[in-house]
Amino acid sequence: MILQLKQIFEGQKQLLDFDAEISLETLAELEPYDSFAAPVAAKGSVKVRAGVVTLDMTVTASLEQICDRCTKAFVREYRFEVSHTLVTALDNEDDEGYEYDDYVVCPDKTLDVSELALTDMKLGLPTKILCKEDCKGLCPVCGKDLNEGACEHSESL
Ligand SMILES: [Zn+2]
Ligand SMILES: [Zn+2]
Repeated sequence: MILQLKQIFEGQKQLLDFDAEISLETLAELEPYDSFAAPVAAKGSVKVRAGVVTLDMTVTASLEQICDRCTKAFVREYRFEVSHTLVTALDNEDDEGYEYDDYVVCPDKTLDVSELALTDMKLGLPTKILCKEDCKGLCPVCGKDLNEGACEHSESL
């Protein structure tokens, strides 16, 4: 979903609400390595305050994942609250130590909010995937799922 921000940047509008949904077909194209259980939703608003354009949104994604420890497949819903400052250009790009991560540059005064939502989602996902915090994993000897009970090798582990 492309947001038209011309009126926002030019001061004719102070608020723009949006509610974007990224379909499963689009997700399969853009993120072929992830498996989504439902469309990704990006809902939020662009606001102007004291001349600063801010985007706040909630990104909701439901992913089918595989536990790193016990290899069980499960579906988990993630919800991220993100904020960005929108600018049409960065003036001091060489300034050292300046935090640009939160900045999104919109040179043509439009913004692909679906693309931004997916980028934010990827940054927010955990690197280690566990079906539950204390997953016991599989027995390295017989491969039994130790969440379901001990096996004869558990004692010596
Ligand atoms: Zn597990
Ligand atoms: Zn075992």
